[in-house]
Amino acid sequence: MPLLVTGTIGIDTVHTPSAKAEKVSGGSCAYFAAASAFHHQPVRIVGAVGGDWPDNHATLLESIDGLCLEGLERRSESKTFAWGGRYFDNMNQRETLFTELGVLEEAPPEVPDSYSDSRIIFLANSHPSVQLDLLHKFPNRQLAVADTMDLWINIARDELLALFKEIDGLIINDSEAEQLTEIKNPISAAREIINMGPSFVIVKKGEHGAVLVHKDGVAVVPAFPLELEGVIDPTGAGDSFAGGFMGFLASSGKLDFKTMQESMAWGTVTASFTLGSFGLDGLCSTSRAELDSRMNEFKLITKI
Ligand code: AMP
Repeated sequence: MPLLVTGTIGIDTVHTPSAKAEKVSGGSCAYFAAASAFHHQPVRIVGAVGGDWPDNHATLLESIDGLCLEGLERRSESKTFAWGGRYFDNMNQRETLFTELGVLEEAPPEVPDSYSDSRIIFLANSHPSVQLDLLHKFPNRQLAVADTMDLWINIARDELLALFKEIDGLIINDSEAEQLTEIKNPISAAREIINMGPSFVIVKKGEHGAVLVHKDGVAVVPAFPLELEGVIDPTGAGDSFAGGFMGFLASSGKLDFKTMQESMAWGTVTASFTLGSFGLDGLCSTSRAELDSRMNEFKLITKI
């Protein structure tokens, strides 16, 4: 089943309690694509960057096997999406220092004709109007799943609620689920979001794993247990989880509850490599054998 993703391709500046990394490769679409390509190929990208997109970011994305970049627009007169964040001492919480929308304030990127048979769509974090616009180009889709973020809940709530009516699934983190519903309990918050439209919701809880609320049941998966030296930068872990989840689902050809449970385990293990470095480096330096070996370790630990 062809898999398509739209979202941001960004230039990130990240402060952790012990280090600062400037202008690293990031963006919701980039993390998702790098993670999902381990499981399913091709992964078709729809996105835009500006004239300031660094050459080394381009080289890194181009080096990932299985990505189709035909839908990546380079707008020489525009600015690339840029984001800065700072992690607090526990590395579980962060604050956004700045968001420069750049190309996101312009017309959404075009979808190449060759993508028209895409059936599985992931709307990585972006403006909900852009997400909705892309979704409408795929009336014959089999599955549409979205992610969102505090910024869009704050500034584009109506567009987000319109989006919820058209998607099958939402992947969101616990603080955003609470912000959206004013409910602290992640399972109850997910049920409230299901009332807004999607038929399943995954709530990510950082180092406490993730929970799937679905019409056929509730499933939980713990985070991969990393020691201190394995947690360098959590940026993009949520998008990488979504990439592993959707990539495995697309490759399985099945969309039932049980397959979603297994896909969550793959999402978790894939995302654990993102935490090991700044930017896309963690995913890009991981081999298939390392991924499989960590999955085996995860199965032993969790008895899944
Ligand atoms: P995550 O840590 O999984 O929440 O994803 C962080 C990534 O999302 C970073 O690489 C950012 O460039 C990107 N990002 C941050 N804020 C936004 C936003 N409002 N919309 C889309 N992407 C964003």
